[in-house]
Amino acid sequence: MLRLPVIVLLAVSLIGVWTQATPQHADRIFVNGEIWTGDDAHPKAEALAVSGDKILAVGSTKEIRALAAPDTAVVDLKGRLLVPGFQDSHLHFPGASVNSVRLDGLETLDAFQKQLGEFAKSHPHLTWITGGGWGYSVFPNQTVDKKYIDAVISDRPVYVSERDGHMGLANSKALQLARITSDTPDPPNGHIMKDAKGEPTGELKEAAQRLILRHMPSPTEQEVYETLLKHLDEAAADGLTSVQNASWSPADQPVYLRALAAGTLKLRFRFAPLILPTDGGAPRDHKLKTPLTAEDLKLYKELRDMFHGPLIKFGSIKGFLDGTVDARTAAMFEPYVGGGTGIPFWEQDDLNKTVALYDKEGFQVLLHAIGDKAINMALNSFEYAAKTNGKTGRRHRVEHAEVPRLADLPRFKELGVIASTQPLFANPDATVLKNYAVLLGPERASHADAFKLYDDAGAVQAFGSDWGVFDFAPLKGIYCAVTRTTPEGTPKGGWYPENRITVEAALRHYTRDGAYANFDEEVRGTLTPGKLADLVVLSKNILTVPPTEIVKTKVLLTVMGGRDTYRDKDLQ
Ligand SMILES: [Zn+2]
Repeated sequence: MLRLPVIVLLAVSLIGVWTQATPQHADRIFVNGEIWTGDDAHPKAEALAVSGDKILAVGSTKEIRALAAPDTAVVDLKGRLLVPGFQDSHLHFPGASVNSVRLDGLETLDAFQKQLGEFAKSHPHLTWITGGGWGYSVFPNQTVDKKYIDAVISDRPVYVSERDGHMGLANSKALQLARITSDTPDPPNGHIMKDAKGEPTGELKEAAQRLILRHMPSPTEQEVYETLLKHLDEAAADGLTSVQNASWSPADQPVYLRALAAGTLKLRFRFAPLILPTDGGAPRDHKLKTPLTAEDLKLYKELRDMFHGPLIKFGSIKGFLDGTVDARTAAMFEPYVGGGTGIPFWEQDDLNKTVALYDKEGFQVLLHAIGDKAINMALNSFEYAAKTNGKTGRRHRVEHAEVPRLADLPRFKELGVIASTQPLFANPDATVLKNYAVLLGPERASHADAFKLYDDAGAVQAFGSDWGVFDFAPLKGIYCAVTRTTPEGTPKGGWYPENRITVEAALRHYTRDGAYANFDEEVRGTLTPGKLADLVVLSKNILTVPPTEIVKTKVLLTVMGGRDTYRDKDLQ
């Protein structure tokens, strides 16, 4: 059945016709497609009409063709799949600088050293070599050491982050510049790793990273702008139209405003300034903040009042409760295999009060919590806020939520808490199998990054990537959530295959659940008349092809607010 916004139906019934001069002119129609709308009332369609930045109508090809004016552009989908624009609910723009080295996906020490050495050679003007993306499996026995960098770069300081950004590796020159020696004590919430002789190995965890980061030159505004534009293009090419930035740096604000003014902002952004008392070694904005001040709160409120979309929004804030499993800094109830239970960054009492304060002030709180202890603490704090302020409908979120206690799963639904998870964290590569799963042990590993458990528990689950280092391509995330194998198809049958979910569930988590998590479900997230025309055309119908084909599927067209932000050369 053809669906039109109520206002159009009214206009049609009153006037009988509408003309080009009305805002309901069909600027472009998409016909002969397979449309997954994400709207339970009308899940499937063949065609869709766009007027300005909104969806005018969704229906059969015949119905939509009837809306076309002589100057309406017609896109023949030729049976291709059209879905709502993807939302990434947890990432970190502006991302790695155009002047940094990328070490993602490398598998050997040789490759790591070659990449670093070549980058240094081709960037002689850089006083520091920075970047990241490496995983522990690159190093012999998963043992990280500065000597591996010194062997290729010893004349300039080097600092490269591990792929999740919670730790990094410095070479000797960088340690020297930062005056980190065997005598340097661990800073609060951080570790300077030392060898048997007490010498720093170059590995710095969590807040210890700041000891180095503060010596690095800040990028210029132009450099950040170029970095932003580069990554916006990449995101649009992957089908993204909206993102929740899980961080915010006042220093970057002018760059986003510049992109907004120039019309080059290809994503809808929601930003989460950092809560306290630590930023957990989060990248780029390195200043350790101490207790919440009235000014902080005032600023966050001002930002929220000033920016409420559709392209830039505030209203959420982000805190860290723990680190990561790979670094054994995720806070666990029981020790890791090999010892340690991680570092909880908060006392429950302080956390409760802080969360309740933000809740009362109308903010949505995002809490990074990976270990079962941290997830439990996050849920406790949301429960406390609800008890103190009443149920506020703030849709608070647990970020990552990787290793929950099974007993805590129902609390997500009960408390209206969103599980903000990252499907590619379950990509069973060497680091996941040889480090992550081993540290957890089989019982906990069997329900780590088990997205199905959240679905079964009735929680709203919003998918993201934690991009900055991880890939943000939603198609790769969907593939991983559906198969729980690497793109090469290993391990055969999938890593804990009982935790696989359907393509449709993954699509929901990447579209309407993300919109809900951003309080945007009334304006976007499904292909419903009257909502923003954020949509993606894919080269294959991922809902019907064998799962192995999902990873070979391409984004052909990305449209945000009716405007093309990416068009593949294969789209005719
Ligand atoms: Zn993150």
